[in-house]
Amino acid sequence: MRQPQQVRRDHLPDRVRIWEVGPRDGLQNEQALVPTEVKAEFIGRLVAAGHTTVEATSFVHPRWVPQLADAAELLRLLGDSATAMPVLVPNERGLDRALELGMRHIAVFASATETFAQRNLNRSLDDQFAMFEPTVRRALGEGLDVRGYLSMCFGDPWEGEVPIGQVVEAGRRLLDLGCWQLSLGDTIGVGTPGHVTELVAAFGAAGVPVDRLAVHFHDTYGQALANAYAALECGVTTFDASAGGLGGCPYAESATGNLATEDLVWMLDGLGIGTGVDLERLVETSVWMARQLGRPSPSRVVQALGAQSDA
Ligand code: MG
Repeated sequence: MRQPQQVRRDHLPDRVRIWEVGPRDGLQNEQALVPTEVKAEFIGRLVAAGHTTVEATSFVHPRWVPQLADAAELLRLLGDSATAMPVLVPNERGLDRALELGMRHIAVFASATETFAQRNLNRSLDDQFAMFEPTVRRALGEGLDVRGYLSMCFGDPWEGEVPIGQVVEAGRRLLDLGCWQLSLGDTIGVGTPGHVTELVAAFGAAGVPVDRLAVHFHDTYGQALANAYAALECGVTTFDASAGGLGGCPYAESATGNLATEDLVWMLDGLGIGTGVDLERLVETSVWMARQLGRPSPSRVVQALGAQSDA
């Protein structure tokens, strides 16, 4: 399989972590309901391709996310390996279910804007933190670690521009609750590289070290990879990505949603930055998954390399 020519840049890190969100963020935004056995095989293939962090599923109420209603069944099917995988937990009830299954890593999901907090969580921007507080406190008390997702960091479909100061304030509140890492989400994919640089710098100025930050880009406007490179230059070393670019954007009428892991890995391989992920095996996985979903992957790298793959 073709590979990029490797050219290192001395100021960039030797290694980064990819936080694979395909099975959770990807599948929750796909229309198709994927059988539990197929999800388990998907996750198994991602791990076999070298992924060390695979966000497996979510304990959001099935009424809101029917695609992930089989969370408990999936985790049981995955067996002991599942407890090392992060899962999304929206509230204390979700935490109860995660604890019952022995999960050790959870994530909560907050909004940087008033309108999205109201629409997604039925809470005000302020009140959402009060809602998370008991969940995070109990999780930490049980020895779990908690990641914080912050959505609409670069723009909001209802409010338009989102002030950087407002994003930093909301992010700080998640970290103050006890989240070990903050994933900055460009939920509608409108961010551009200068905006990324300014936002990461603003967190730094507010006393948040860059190693507490991760980035979560969407490719709606074709900016995801440029934004990832900007974040890399700022010292960010955790990148959320979705195998095959799974998950259209639910808040923008577009087929392209999450940054495709393959597109990210191609760039990082070219920069000589280690990820542990084997691009060929990953592409084979996404070609296989695209067949399960009955539609081609939107990832450019999967399209370019997939024809050579015999998955
Ligand atoms: Mg996403």
